Amino acid sequence: MQRNHTHDPAAASWLPTANAAGCDFPVQNLPFAVFRRAGSDEAFRGGVAIGDQVVDLAALAASTGLAGLAREAAQLCARETLNDFLAMGPKAWQALRHAVFALLEQDATPDMVSIARGCLVPMDAVEYALPNRIGDYTDFYTSLDHARNVGALIRPDDPVSPNFRWMPIAYHGRASSIGVSGQQFHRPMGQAMPPGATAPVYGACARLDYELELGVHVGVGNTQGKPIPLAQAEDHIFGICMLNDWSARDIQFWEMNPLGPFLGKNFATTISPWIVTMEALLPYRQAWTRTADEPQPLAYLDAEGNRQRGALDIQLEVALQTAQRQNNGDAPARLSRTSFRHQYWTVAQMLTHHTMGGCNLHSGDLLGTGTISGPSPDQAGAIIELTRGGSLPLTLEGGSGTQEKRRFLEDGDSVIFRGWCEAPGAARIGFGECRGTVLPAGAWG
Ligand code: CA
Repeated sequence: MQRNHTHDPAAASWLPTANAAGCDFPVQNLPFAVFRRAGSDEAFRGGVAIGDQVVDLAALAASTGLAGLAREAAQLCARETLNDFLAMGPKAWQALRHAVFALLEQDATPDMVSIARGCLVPMDAVEYALPNRIGDYTDFYTSLDHARNVGALIRPDDPVSPNFRWMPIAYHGRASSIGVSGQQFHRPMGQAMPPGATAPVYGACARLDYELELGVHVGVGNTQGKPIPLAQAEDHIFGICMLNDWSARDIQFWEMNPLGPFLGKNFATTISPWIVTMEALLPYRQAWTRTADEPQPLAYLDAEGNRQRGALDIQLEVALQTAQRQNNGDAPARLSRTSFRHQYWTVAQMLTHHTMGGCNLHSGDLLGTGTISGPSPDQAGAIIELTRGGSLPLTLEGGSGTQEKRRFLEDGDSVIFRGWCEAPGAARIGFGECRGTVLPAGAWG
């Protein structure tokens, strides 16, 4: 895939809000979601973000604004999930992106502008659903800095397991409890072994955490027994969202030896509604490198294209809104900021490794990248890292001299991720928001 006119930083839309500085959704972005008017009984259907509006793809498919492959693609986007559209593959994804770009750019003809205007729904009046029927969800563990920070709390003498530098580590996660931004969930109950105790206790999680991750939406799957070579991996990836892998640390650390995370992770996972396509992300690719003192990847995890542009410079920020801050009218407190470019393994390497033994992926499957922590302590993507296992509480400064402390998440806390990309010679594009809220335990008493 090559950069093209849809990436031109000089391109603008006839819709003024799309051209505003700092807008997440300029005409160069055009991410996909599934939406309907909030509170309505309309069918959910696909949409594309532009400025402060959503282009209703069901309405667009029924209009005269599209033709050929783009029209066929929009017709599949009119369904309640995007799975069938994703299965069409990169040519169809590009055809629809380019056709929507042509309708929205400032040089569009008055007829095209009129058609597109008739398909707009104000973004502040919509609600979202999961964009895909997620058959399977796999969560990776691919940040060396996160592995070092958390490993140091669990195994101080050997923080990073020897396999980490040789393969993208992962476990098979739970698809049923994935929700879209705005998700609320009850603090999980479970078993934990308190420090120094000889028997576990049952109760509400006392060490609830978030994990800052990206979600990779698989576009085209593969046949069982036919692995996807690294050089072709990105043809199978539709796009990327933000993902919060909520984690009950006390439950997780007691249960995960020997078979990995289970109840400590499977109660909720939140993803942002908008999928930013791999085509939109082209200008923000960077070289993927391994320094000479690190093991070089085995041949099946190495390809020229992956070395030249495997890394993605996606800026990410975590903020916390507490009940007290909300009541006092304080803005969410920023906890950390980092970039995905620091990740030890690329999304292409994750996908290829996943299929290498013959495992088949399906359109709409979701891969979590693993927690994204950068090299410095303030770039950590989980509160357990920021507070050194809860030993150094964070101080959240509010207005009028108010303060709060946090070792882990408390009831009523909302965790908010934001993501965006900037590069010389490219527009700024954004991912919107991924928000989830902790409710008190009590679902099970
Ligand atoms: Ca995770």
